[in-house]
Amino acid sequence: MNPRRLLSLLAPAALAALPFAAMAQTAHVHVHGQLRLEVAIEGPTVIIDMDSPLDNFVGFERAPKTDAEKKTADDAIAQLRAADQLFKIDPSANCKLGPVTLRSAALGLGKAQGDAAEGHADLEATFAFNCTNAQATKFIDIGLFDAFKATRQIDARIAAPQGEFKRTLKRPATRLSWTR
Ligand SMILES: [Zn+2]
Repeated sequence: MNPRRLLSLLAPAALAALPFAAMAQTAHVHVHGQLRLEVAIEGPTVIIDMDSPLDNFVGFERAPKTDAEKKTADDAIAQLRAADQLFKIDPSANCKLGPVTLRSAALGLGKAQGDAAEGHADLEATFAFNCTNAQATKFIDIGLFDAFKATRQIDARIAAPQGEFKRTLKRPATRLSWTR
């Protein structure tokens, strides 16, 4: 077989492998206990995107096996869906919880965007709040440390009418604020 023919045979395989290579590059090494939040105040909504090691919520990073693990997962999912208990937005914004989307391949939730490093798994979520005065939001009281004992640090980015901010919240602090 001449080299050119070999190349033409290999090319489709190389192309097919590309998406996986791209996924491998975006997979990040997460740190248990830490999670990331992106808060965006847009029009009448406050949107909170969360990216976290699954371990933070259930204590494992694979599909639940035992009844106890299944209950742990169900409880965590129920707590995350009741997001107005986890994220208490500045009352002056007058927000109500809207759609909550949870994504975790290990828990069979939604379409997870590629997996974390081998042996690890993430949970991603989007929490949408509908507000009558979203632009007035100056802080969010966060209940994640109370609800999930394994969590200890939140790295947050906030896109607010006042600008863009980065904040780190460490247990036991609970208030995420970005203005003085
Ligand atoms: Zn992990």
